[in-house]
Amino acid sequence: MIDSFKSLVLNYSYEPLQFCSARHAIIMVFGGRAEDLESAGYLVRTPSTVFKLPTVIRTLKMVRRNRSKGLAFSKKNILRRDNYTCQYCGASNQPLTVDHIVPKSRGGATNWTNIVVACKPCNLRKGDRTPLEMDMPLCQPPKKPDFQSIPFIIPSGPNSHLEIWQKYIPPKIFAKSVAF
Ligand SMILES: [Zn+2]
Repeated sequence: MIDSFKSLVLNYSYEPLQFCSARHAIIMVFGGRAEDLESAGYLVRTPSTVFKLPTVIRTLKMVRRNRSKGLAFSKKNILRRDNYTCQYCGASNQPLTVDHIVPKSRGGATNWTNIVVACKPCNLRKGDRTPLEMDMPLCQPPKKPDFQSIPFIIPSGPNSHLEIWQKYIPPKIFAKSVAF
């Protein structure tokens, strides 16, 4: 059971950092690296003891993140920045791809400001043309995201977990869980 649960890890400053497996959260708490901040009440039994599964833990030391370096440029982070939504038609229930706004074949760069999420139908329709040529305006101009603007991928879990997590994650970065 424990392996299907996730825990939210907060920085020492209470800023959300990431999700980890509940097993890893327990190891951090018992290893003295984090405190158990909140639990939805699920019990874990070992041969010698019973304890509550941590739903939120907080590191006992400030975890520094290299902000100057920013987020890695990757397909996964493009999907996260665009909230798993096609930037041409707004669909999120279609197979998603990433699209060069100015096509590569026409000198378009592979970077944060020239790549957006596109559903397969939009990507096919657009082909080797620009949004202007196809009259396919973007929902919003793509930017290089910072850590705080990128939505968290909320793992699936019991509602009791989701309610607790919601208290610690700012609404604008609380994205729905996405199954891939
Ligand atoms: Zn689309």
